[in-house]
Amino acid sequence: MGKSVVVIGGGIIGLCSAYYLKKEGCDVTIIDQSNMDGGASHVNAGYITPSHFVSLAAPGMITKGIKWMFNASSPLYVKPRLDLDFFKWALAFKKSATQSKVEKSISVIKDINLYSRDLYEDLRTSTDFEFHYERKGLLMCYKTDEVGEEEWHIGKRGIQEGLGVKNLTKQEVEAMQPDAAMDIKGAVYYDCDAHMTPNNFMVDMIGYLNSKGVKFAKNEQVKDIELSNNKITKVITENSIFTADEVVLAAGSWSPILSQKLGIKIPLQAGKGYRIDVERSTGITIPSILCEAKVAITPMDGFTRFAGTMEIAGINHDINPKRVNAISNAVQRYYSDITITSEEKEAAQCGLRPCSPDGLPYIGKSSKCDNLTIGTGHAMMGWSLGPATGKLISEIILNKEVSLNLEPFSPDRCF
Ligand SMILES: Cc1cc2nc3c(=O)[nH]c(=O)nc-3n(C[C@H](O)[C@H](O)[C@H](O)COP(=O)(O)OP(=O)(O)OC[C@H]3O[C@@H](n4cnc5c(N)ncnc54)[C@H](O)[C@@H]3O)c2cc1C
Repeated sequence: MGKSVVVIGGGIIGLCSAYYLKKEGCDVTIIDQSNMDGGASHVNAGYITPSHFVSLAAPGMITKGIKWMFNASSPLYVKPRLDLDFFKWALAFKKSATQSKVEKSISVIKDINLYSRDLYEDLRTSTDFEFHYERKGLLMCYKTDEVGEEEWHIGKRGIQEGLGVKNLTKQEVEAMQPDAAMDIKGAVYYDCDAHMTPNNFMVDMIGYLNSKGVKFAKNEQVKDIELSNNKITKVITENSIFTADEVVLAAGSWSPILSQKLGIKIPLQAGKGYRIDVERSTGITIPSILCEAKVAITPMDGFTRFAGTMEIAGINHDINPKRVNAISNAVQRYYSDITITSEEKEAAQCGLRPCSPDGLPYIGKSSKCDNLTIGTGHAMMGWSLGPATGKLISEIILNKEVSLNLEPFSPDRCF
């Protein structure tokens, strides 16, 4: 029998870690405080995003954030609050949002995205399970020349990175997607992106892991972690005590609460996003981002998902109807033929993106604990980077040669 591993968190990162660890013969237990049927890994837009190679911490974001702070329906909302961790995170974000740091991270983000997309394609062709996966690219749709120029500037940077990017006219977009009339000027098209139906994949993956003997402790919240001689000796929930050779911390936005118990600081803030599902024909066949409104649209398996907003306001799952309306109004502005109904808006759900201040995830070990491997902080790319993170985590735990340079993702990095 291989190593025993406890994975804290059953989102996409925890499940993919369990998948690759199980493949290597480990005895795996996943602990999750929920029933594992909601949250970020279920409600996301399902994009696999090599196109998102520019970090969220980009120059100009601070100014936009301050401008949007006072507008309840803006795509980005940062709630001002007296919280030391939030201040430190905001300061680290500001320090990261420089042109030179963004440039440095472009190829790092692109490479891990491409690697992860390839791993999804391997999973799709494996006999382990079947799931919805399409590679139709992504349209970055714009209404104004100013935003079109900004997007094409990024697109040209993508071409330098070897990605397939084109600047399309409105007519060219209509030819690609004839049944969804759009009120736009044009779109920058990335042919490298793919999309999936996350909630279905999560169910399939849980079923597969179950069938292979991975143990699940659902509705069990990890309350404490005990450390002795730099090693975790106990993972404690309300009802049980778990022991294992190795522990993976993949608790999404909650990760810092747990790492703190080990004296490990992970700068992270929850970034809430919403989704509205529409289960009728919309004519939308290609994933799109409505650039000015920052709304993501995905044709999923049997329905269309409209997702958006980034609300940095602590850990809660409160639904703010103003933000749901903002998504729905944006859809109407870009697709005059699509009206989202009040029932569809009432069924909106939200999830928390675990946002690091520099836009890079934390993947690896902390020097403060020998048998803990951290996988969190993926922000807007957690769905995309699930397989790459899971694979890297299994390589770290099994002392194998790692597939990518882990230095940029170090949980010990300074901001
Ligand atoms: C609206 C929206 C759209 C998005 N669109 C995309 C997209 O198109 N592409 C993309 O790549 N990414 C997207 N994302 C981001 C992506 O969904 C997240 O980055 C990703 O789901 C994070 O996965 P995770 O496993 O780290 O965290 P989570 O999915 O949050 O999972 C963490 C788990 O840990 C559990 N947990 C926490 N604390 C404890 C504890 N103490 N004890 C036990 N269990 C605990 C939680 O219950 C949870 O199930 C989107 C997110 C949102 C909200």
